[in-house]
Amino acid sequence: MNERIAVLPGDGIGHEVVPATLRVLDAVVDFEYDHVEAGDAVAERTGAPLPEETLEAVSTADATLFGATGETSADVILPLREAVDSFVNIRPARTHPGVDAVQPDTDIVILRENTEGVYAGIEDRLSEDVSTLTRLVTQSASRRLGEFACEYVEANDHDGFTIAHKNNVMRVTDGLFVDTIEEVATEHGVDVDDAYMDAMATHLAMDPSQYDVIVCPNLAGDVLSDLAAGLVGGLGLLPSANVGSDRGIFEPVHGCAPDIAGEGVANPAATMFSAAMLLEFLDYDSEADAVRSAVESTLEDGPRTPDLGGSATTDDVADAVIDRLP
Ligand code: ATP
Ligand code: MG
Repeated sequence: MNERIAVLPGDGIGHEVVPATLRVLDAVVDFEYDHVEAGDAVAERTGAPLPEETLEAVSTADATLFGATGETSADVILPLREAVDSFVNIRPARTHPGVDAVQPDTDIVILRENTEGVYAGIEDRLSEDVSTLTRLVTQSASRRLGEFACEYVEANDHDGFTIAHKNNVMRVTDGLFVDTIEEVATEHGVDVDDAYMDAMATHLAMDPSQYDVIVCPNLAGDVLSDLAAGLVGGLGLLPSANVGSDRGIFEPVHGCAPDIAGEGVANPAATMFSAAMLLEFLDYDSEADAVRSAVESTLEDGPRTPDLGGSATTDDVADAVIDRLP
């Protein structure tokens, strides 16, 4: 039986990069698609950004291909990640032959904690003057992230991982985060080291080759992966996978890019690489490799969207990728 994939373009360029990516998927695999909606436009029309049927579709699909949402982003992706019990966001950032990069030696994978930290949503306005935010870090979430990181480095032949944190300031929360993950790494016999996240930002900008797999809290992962995007040639290139359980949500790191939405020139590479991660997640390894290679080859000498200095449209890129599939 064919796997059922929930397809959720969201807003803005999501409506351009997701259909372009479906054309590529259709060329390599036969999935059953469940087209659903969520985001700003739905919220405007109905008052609620995440319709019940979308939540249901994503919760029961084998995997979800997600585009991007705008203002309502937190109201959409956070409940969806929770619905599929995704506790880690995998964000690979590597340079591609032919694409100008600030740091051509970048090849890192960020494993971002996906459920807590300062994104747990525990905020209060105590008075006109005072607002507070509670940073949630649990031993159980840190432990399962640590377990995931160990299995990830073992399965993908990495030497070990680096924990990004700030336990000199957030002694209790990042103290627990680092101690727990180090303990798990020791149990697995996986090499682990650690770095303050601010210092890591400097190191990443100057010499990213010193890092391989980075394990970090939620907010740090968000910021460091956008930094990594800058190192390798822009947001249009970075995919991500929300995984952890037997369902996954695959989405580009970028947002819905209102500044270019509707022009048909968004770079679909990040979403196509996300689709490759989806294929891999469902054990379509050769199809995943085929898509990845075709996108790589297109980036190298095919048509380019304006963010990469070209004048091609999203569909021109999709045509070129499909042409280059085996
Ligand atoms: P979010 O809050 O969802 O992370 P954001 O405010 O960081 O969103 P993005 O929507 O990611 O913003 O856009 C940031 C910049 O990158 C914009 O100038 C946008 O046009 C550009 N950009 C993002 N994605 C792409 C893409 N796929 N192709 C070309 N340009 C892109
Ligand atoms: Mg952003």
